[in-house]
Amino acid sequence: MSHQHPGHRAKKGPIRVAAAGGVLALLLAACSGGETAADPAPEAPEVEEEDAGDDGDPDAVDEGEEAAGDAADDADEPDEPEVPAVDPASVNADELGQVPVLMYHQLREDGGSLYDMSPEEFRADLIELFDGGYRPVTTAALVTREFDVPAGTTPVVLTFDDSVRNQAFLDDDGELHPDSSMGILIDVAADYDDVEPVASLYLITSSLFGGTADGPDIVRALHEAGMELGNHTTTHPNLGRLSSAEVQDELSTAISMIGDIVPEAEVSTLSLPLGVFPEDRALATSGSGTDGDYAHDAVLLVGSNPAPSPWHVDFDPQALPRILTLRDPGELQGSAWWLEQFEVAQTHQRYISDGNPATISFPADKADQLDPAFEERANPY
Ligand SMILES: [Zn+2]
Repeated sequence: MSHQHPGHRAKKGPIRVAAAGGVLALLLAACSGGETAADPAPEAPEVEEEDAGDDGDPDAVDEGEEAAGDAADDADEPDEPEVPAVDPASVNADELGQVPVLMYHQLREDGGSLYDMSPEEFRADLIELFDGGYRPVTTAALVTREFDVPAGTTPVVLTFDDSVRNQAFLDDDGELHPDSSMGILIDVAADYDDVEPVASLYLITSSLFGGTADGPDIVRALHEAGMELGNHTTTHPNLGRLSSAEVQDELSTAISMIGDIVPEAEVSTLSLPLGVFPEDRALATSGSGTDGDYAHDAVLLVGSNPAPSPWHVDFDPQALPRILTLRDPGELQGSAWWLEQFEVAQTHQRYISDGNPATISFPADKADQLDPAFEERANPY
């Protein structure tokens, strides 16, 4: 890898804890966007009180690429998980640790509101993530547990709501423009030999990337680039205020419109507009509208915690929390704050891969946190 942890931020100031809910609600309220369909203030999400600031040992995530000897050839036993290619202890593997699902907003030259970033800030954000050992996977890959990131790294989901134009537009050759969010992601990832430039985009199908004629072309280009096309409804209503029939139409019509553009796309995850569930929560997961049946493998919320590991007993893909991308670690429960918790305060542990998708490695004292459904793949150490 060409990029390694450059002296990671060692900022360790006192972390504001008091009145966390109020601060966050205020932050969220600031997210009312402007001319576009950016999410207005959702209901204040739950905020955990954190005992932040103990002096944990900074992470050792990137240290271990010293692959241990090759896996022994004893994988014939159906009950024994395959032995990982690296000694999980050498990379501090913890596949019961948490996964950040990041919620990006708009790119604006002037930096925009608190939630937005300039293109330069977005590029810097990605470099910090990748240098810090985070590797992008899509929401769909996370929740179906079909992702494969290198030993010692942490999966991260990059999500983009509202299909606004600065996220994706095309150059003269019909490729994703290098100045769009997706173009920047692809460009930055090219500097790393093990970073897949993937993201999950949640589309408002009545307003595709500026609502101009090339909207469908952009959607096709995204699919061809390996991006996940997700459901963010047809018109971005508050689903809590709609009838059950209207909810199901909003969700099924969006999927069918994406299917009309990219027939081979599988729209399998939903980002709730404003983070608000329909009154009948089950309708977020599955239902049947005018344009057919739908079933979502995941339902994404707004704010404010990392998601449990998909192997963790607390993992609930039908209410998957996201983290707001805020570059200032002083912004409570924004992305920079959370990364600092993982790196410095260690009040929470991030997911660290053992490099082998077939096994689930974790420190033995966490065994009771494993979802029993995956016991036969467990590799405690
Ligand atoms: Zn939205």
